[in-house]
Amino acid sequence: MDWAFQRRMMVSRQLRGRGIRDERVLQAMLEIPREEFVPEEDRDGAYVDEPLEIGYGQTISQPYMTALMAQCLELEGHETVLEVGAGCGYHAAVLGVLAARVFAIELIPELAAMARENLEKTGRAGNITVIAGDGSLGYPPEAPYDAISVAAAAAEIPRALLEQLKDGGRMVIPVGPYSDQELRVVRKRDGEIDWHVAAYCRFVPLREAAPRVD
Ligand code: SAH
Repeated sequence: MDWAFQRRMMVSRQLRGRGIRDERVLQAMLEIPREEFVPEEDRDGAYVDEPLEIGYGQTISQPYMTALMAQCLELEGHETVLEVGAGCGYHAAVLGVLAARVFAIELIPELAAMARENLEKTGRAGNITVIAGDGSLGYPPEAPYDAISVAAAAAEIPRALLEQLKDGGRMVIPVGPYSDQELRVVRKRDGEIDWHVAAYCRFVPLREAAPRVD
């Protein structure tokens, strides 16, 4: 299999062809070997235009969605980014090319271990830390973040994530019920929050490990 060719096709057809314009995002997706992040038996489908199962009832997002979310964050290279819902680690690897540091949190410990392993074997672990835990609470030790990318759908934007976003920062998050979610791009300016809808989407639900008391 000529993976580099498949990657170029994915970038030109699925991403550039559908309006992804951030050259750094396109370059990052040319660089990361997506086939190393999908289960061994599904490698042949690594570059298809849809999400793939990665075990534990979870998925690796459609390439277009990963690109769109990364583009919405407008990363320049100096940022500290929080990713909620690391899954197999692919999206974190892309963010690792685009930003200075990435903290990727994953609720299912086996997937967190898989993400760590995938990032290590592809030589991408240098600026990416994978944490096993409940990302609906953010990750306070490294907060605040210049950007937050959430890969699971919330009923409402978790307050902890808004609090851990830097002033001037951006967050991308799917909000809504399973079949009808909007991908919101949230900005914090002078302490005020505003957002717009970038797309409609379907992500797995953002789960909460323990009920919050607030
Ligand atoms: N980022 C992945 C997509 C992962 S799918 C990619 O590279 O394409 C979303 C992930 O969110 C799942 O692995 C799921 O276990 C995780 N998740 C759901 N609720 C979570 C929570 N509260 N905290 C952290 N991860 C969560």
